[in-house]
Amino acid sequence: MEAVIPVPAAPTLPVEGTTQVFPVRRIYCIGRNYADHAREMGMDPEREPPFFFGKPHDTVVPGGGDIAYPPLTSNLHHEVELVVALATGGRDIPASEALGHIYGYAVGIDLTRRDLQAKAKDKGQPWDTAKGFDQSAPVSSILPLAAGGHFDRGAIWLSVNGVEKQRGDLSQMIWSVPEVIAHISRFMALAPGDLIFTGTPAGVGPILRGDRVRCGIEGLGELEIVLV
Ligand code: MN
Repeated sequence: MEAVIPVPAAPTLPVEGTTQVFPVRRIYCIGRNYADHAREMGMDPEREPPFFFGKPHDTVVPGGGDIAYPPLTSNLHHEVELVVALATGGRDIPASEALGHIYGYAVGIDLTRRDLQAKAKDKGQPWDTAKGFDQSAPVSSILPLAAGGHFDRGAIWLSVNGVEKQRGDLSQMIWSVPEVIAHISRFMALAPGDLIFTGTPAGVGPILRGDRVRCGIEGLGELEIVLV
């Protein structure tokens, strides 16, 4: 059937070591999944469990690079995160079977308009303008399981203009990767192509036009963006 408007292109991510791409279906994100970050956001991780939200899939910026500083904010923040890429999905996935649904892993930055997020929290409004804006999800190429295995520990870090701002370890996640997959699949059916941002360690902060942001995960890879 002929479309009445141009059909939007499905975003894709390069797959490390291949000429193939990973098509992106949906992007789920976990909030406050590292206790130190929950505390820096003024929350008590003992009392407030992690939760999830989404970003539109076309917010993905494959491989990073230049990112236009977004409008209507004066407090854009970096959040480096382990990104899980799903090969298969389903509903009510038990945590014990969750790792079997993973295609591979990547490094991502959950860019956040922190000022708009604070206003939304105050008013009990949704986070879409704070989290789901254009180019808000730079993601590295995906390292397939076959090449890198699973990532449940290892350093995760981010620097701005060569100065380290965030450093943590994947083992500090409150919800592990299998628990994250199990949790989301109770609310909606996961499917091939879904990406899950698994939360950020402490040290989030503002970035400005001209800033060069580098981040990485031990054994997985690195990602760099420049705010223009
Ligand atoms: Mn985040």
